[in-house]
Amino acid sequence: MSWKTLDEMDLDGKTVLCRVDINVPVENGRVTDTTRIDRIVPTVRDILAKGGKPMLIAHFGRPKGKVVDEMSLRQVLPALQAALGCKVQFIETLEGAETPTEEARAADVLLLENIRFHPGEEANDEDFAARLAGLGDIYCNDAFSAAHRAHASTEALARHLPACAGRLMQAELEALEAALGHPQRPVVAVVGGAKVSTKLDLLGNLVEKVDTLVIGGGMANTFLAAQGLNVGKSLCEHEMANTAREIMAKAGAAGCDILLPADVVVAGEFAAGAAHETVPAHACPEDRMILDAGAQSVARITAALDGAKTLIWNGPLGAFEIAPFDAATNAAARHAAELSRAGRLVSVAGGGDTVAALNKAGAAEDFTYISTAGGAFLEWMEGKTLPGVAALGG
Ligand code: AMP
Repeated sequence: MSWKTLDEMDLDGKTVLCRVDINVPVENGRVTDTTRIDRIVPTVRDILAKGGKPMLIAHFGRPKGKVVDEMSLRQVLPALQAALGCKVQFIETLEGAETPTEEARAADVLLLENIRFHPGEEANDEDFAARLAGLGDIYCNDAFSAAHRAHASTEALARHLPACAGRLMQAELEALEAALGHPQRPVVAVVGGAKVSTKLDLLGNLVEKVDTLVIGGGMANTFLAAQGLNVGKSLCEHEMANTAREIMAKAGAAGCDILLPADVVVAGEFAAGAAHETVPAHACPEDRMILDAGAQSVARITAALDGAKTLIWNGPLGAFEIAPFDAATNAAARHAAELSRAGRLVSVAGGGDTVAALNKAGAAEDFTYISTAGGAFLEWMEGKTLPGVAALGG
């Protein structure tokens, strides 16, 4: 990793163009979840502490290069000021922004209007990036969740100014590096969720990097079916059978053990509290669907975790939204949380429903790191280069 952190930058008296993700949910003009805002606070505080002046650059929604009043970042201003505990001066237009107004000079923190109002942003336009660069002295990217997009404020701008990672970006990159870059072995990956077809690149990359791959959720059904087992009326992508066999062959060649459910919880319908029973994975009745992994499978997973030093997790092991089909996800997540709390496991999780599933299990707090970056987290786990990280020199 060759990117710089805020510690290595001289920020005294400098304006720091800081790309953040404050794309928070808003209802009736009020922010309903401040998580993303809360997570940028350390970066802003550290820039201020080093004598720098943060000029925050962010997107909000998808205005597609046009001014859309409902997507103005102005509505985020009160929540941002509350979280930062200081006045934030809103800069409505880039016209004349290179000469700060008196108010802008007096303010601690500046916030630019939705950067996606400008067509040059998503086009990763060099001239637009140069114009942005003219507004400050240093570039700090704290938006890991936007790093899989090559946009002017996430990619091109990094080449116009001395650049560094913000604290949240730094934490994400360090966690991902610990999980997949240079992990302590053995490494176990847990991959669950609905479909194999949405996680092909992920599975393909993981079998080459991890020692054990636990496959759960609806996608495990596709693997079971590919081995000739009857999965009844379970969610299953029968047309992916060849792909599943290829993944298993690739795993075998790479020395990665694949752990499929040995027993499964089956029910007649996808509904909370549906009548259910646990059967061996080869004995799913024709008129039943698999909705969770059974107790024996959970015991195998927890045993694999006991022998591991690192865990990377994406996707639930069953239909976690509807009890009792959340049992395997809860049990495995709580076991991982316990091992992490005891300092025996480095556990990193993220992507899609995973954060919700681990929160529901009450396990999220004890995981070493939970990424809320969604698409960027998955692309990183797929082994792809993230333009926003590459531009920082990472
Ligand atoms: P994903 O977005 O791919 O991570 O998939 C998450 C979804 O997969 C959740 O909504 C789960 O309810 C669903 N899921 C997990 N296991 C099963 C299963 N055995 N049958 C049907 N849906 C499942």
